[in-house]
Amino acid sequence: MDIYLLAFLLIILIGSVLVYIYYLKEKKEQLDSIRRGFCPHCKQADIELTDKRSSGCSGPQMLTFECLSCGYINSFAVDNSESSCGTGGCR
Ligand SMILES: [Zn+2]
Repeated sequence: MDIYLLAFLLIILIGSVLVYIYYLKEKKEQLDSIRRGFCPHCKQADIELTDKRSSGCSGPQMLTFECLSCGYINSFAVDNSESSCGTGGCR
C-alpha cells in the first residue's frame, strides 16, 4: 500500500475520532448544564423537559429539553438502567 495513502487515511481516522470525542464532550457539558436547571445556550433557568420516550425497559431514554427563553431544543439519550426498571416502574 502507498505510504501517502496510508498516512492520509490515518489523518482522516484521527480527525473523525477527535470530532466524535469533541461532540460527546459538548453534549455532556450541555446535559450537565440542563441537569443543574440552566439552558446551555442562554444560561437562563428556563429549561424544560418537553418529551420523554424510551424504546423499552432496558434501553436508553430519549429526553428532549426546550428552553423557553431562547428556543434552544436538544435531545439526549440517557441511560436509565438504574432508575425506573429496578423499582418496577416499567410494568
Ligand atoms: Zn436558552
